[in-house]
Amino acid sequence: MTTVDHAPARVPLAILQEVFGYPAFRGQQAAVVDHVTSGGDALVLMPTGGGKSLCYQVPAIARQRAGRGVTLVISPLIALMHDQVGALDEAGVPAAFLNSTLDWEQTKEVERKLLAGQLTLLYAAPERISTPRFLGLLDTLHAHGKLSLFAIDEAHCVSQWGHDFRPEYRALTVLHERWPSVPRIALTATADDTTRADIVERLQLQESQQFVSSFDRPNIRYTIVEKKDPTTQLLRFIQNEHTDESGIVYCQSRRRVEELAQTLCEAGLDAMPYHAGLPAAERQANQDRFLRDEGVIMVATIAFGMGIDKPDVRFVAHIDMPKNIEGYYQETGRAGRDGGPAQAWMAYGLQDVVNQRRMIDESPAEDAFKQIMVRKLDALLGLAEAIDCRRARLLAYFGEQMVPAKDPSGAHTQPYCGNCDNCLQPPDVWDATDCARKLLSTIYRVQQMSGIGFGAGHIMDIVRGKSTDKMKQFGHEELSTFGLGAEFSEPQLRGVLRQLIAVGALHVDAQAFNTLRLLDGARPILRGEQPVRLRAASAKPERARKVRGERAERGSRSRATPPAAAELDAAGQARFTALKAWRGEVAREHNLPAYVIFHDATLAAIAARDPQSSADLQGVTGIGATKLERYGEEVLRVSRQAG
Ligand code: ADP
Ligand code: ZN
Repeated sequence: MTTVDHAPARVPLAILQEVFGYPAFRGQQAAVVDHVTSGGDALVLMPTGGGKSLCYQVPAIARQRAGRGVTLVISPLIALMHDQVGALDEAGVPAAFLNSTLDWEQTKEVERKLLAGQLTLLYAAPERISTPRFLGLLDTLHAHGKLSLFAIDEAHCVSQWGHDFRPEYRALTVLHERWPSVPRIALTATADDTTRADIVERLQLQESQQFVSSFDRPNIRYTIVEKKDPTTQLLRFIQNEHTDESGIVYCQSRRRVEELAQTLCEAGLDAMPYHAGLPAAERQANQDRFLRDEGVIMVATIAFGMGIDKPDVRFVAHIDMPKNIEGYYQETGRAGRDGGPAQAWMAYGLQDVVNQRRMIDESPAEDAFKQIMVRKLDALLGLAEAIDCRRARLLAYFGEQMVPAKDPSGAHTQPYCGNCDNCLQPPDVWDATDCARKLLSTIYRVQQMSGIGFGAGHIMDIVRGKSTDKMKQFGHEELSTFGLGAEFSEPQLRGVLRQLIAVGALHVDAQAFNTLRLLDGARPILRGEQPVRLRAASAKPERARKVRGERAERGSRSRATPPAAAELDAAGQARFTALKAWRGEVAREHNLPAYVIFHDATLAAIAARDPQSSADLQGVTGIGATKLERYGEEVLRVSRQAG
């Protein structure tokens, strides 16, 4: 247990305003910051973009000012530490990192500053915690009462149930065991109940206070489409709805990443590949470009993205289905951190289900583990097949009940969020019970007749009554179900099979040529006791729906969206453009992403004010004292010159 000493609650707010230039804390930030500033332990669950960094940065500053020394931030993201420290430096907060990118001289310099009490925050990778040299340094600081706080970022990495297990995180128990009096704050954007319990246990946070925020991301529009020709579907989605905007496209395999990046480039888009198989230098260069330039599309495996805090990613697309809802939500959560309108788009088909099931079956893991993986996959399949609100389902998965949005038509009987595909355009639903029974009994009969199972293609051929060579070879034209479902199209049958797999009526046997087998869940359907209602496999193209410039209307929980540049008058536009160009130069000089200097929202606010003196810049969101002093004059000059 850590002792709680009460610092005046005004201090954190004053720091937020003075250092970061933000007028108020958001959501749970104030409670977390107060608790941690006064020396309490905390576990913070907040969605991506919720503002986790400030939850430890503000206490770090407050505690350093109170003479308590340095905050150690554990982050698994070596590639991003430079930018994180750069952002603090821009805000005038003394910070540094220790990782393998530093040479000996640089390392010694950081250590010197650390021991001289010149740092407020020190970022380090978890593996450093196991080195005697680093432990010795922390001992020295602690002996002098200068070890203020431990912040454990991306805390889900400690759990194998999270989607990003890092064994090095397990060693972090040393923090608590060796320096029990130093408070700890662990933060993550993702954790279902299992993962959360695991984090608490692994990091020995039983005594900590838990702060769980709403996981809703009201500004993200969720859309899941049926996979037909995924490359064309993706191209249409980007070209219709996201021209010149930043986005991430997730694929399952490295090869697919490379092919797709090339296809997008050939279609005139600015796309780059990212996966763990690329040379480290190329990976880093691509990531830097994505962070630093505007309108770049990253085509990537899940190796990309953790800790990417680029605020203006406008879309995240999945061309293959991820493994579970945690992964999906984490990945899609990288869109729209700035609170502006953003989209999460996924294409999903029967093959995805088969592939994911196969990966689980073929993995060398223990059965108990596989069962959990299957359960998690099933939940994602349920989301993909859903004919009701996606957001309600996502939130329910994380144990949260959605507060419905106001339904303008009043026609919705189910939960309504107003910003997912199913709410915006309720899908056509058909009763697939008869079709499902025909498929299931065909699978049963071929197994009876031939003593072996068959794959989806052949089963569909039987139901549709197609005379193929295989049909003749096995005598399947004799089956009573042959041709019994000739009225169903192949996409319809495929959709029903997918759903049957998703609900646990069918098993795809990866060890035997993806043959289909009945499971217990098939019985009530075969007996006609359980209806099967399905999204109609639509032949019509997805309707292009512009999200740009629209506001997410999700009531009071919607974050204030930044003033869109589109709302500026002509002179304001000119100022905004000039400010962006100026920001680009500064960012290049400092080797930092542009948003670290100022967010778009800050520049748009400046352009809207048409400032004439430095007093006019006071109170613009995102301009703290240091930035005002450093850039105030320049910003005024650039803005005035532009109009
Ligand atoms: P997370 O790590 O939870 O994904 P970040 O800490 O990166 O989120 O914050 C997301 C964005 O929101 C950042 O650009 C940050 O500057 C901004 N932000 C966080 N808290 C506030 C606040 N109280 N007021 C204004 N902007 C904030
Ligand atoms: Zn909805």
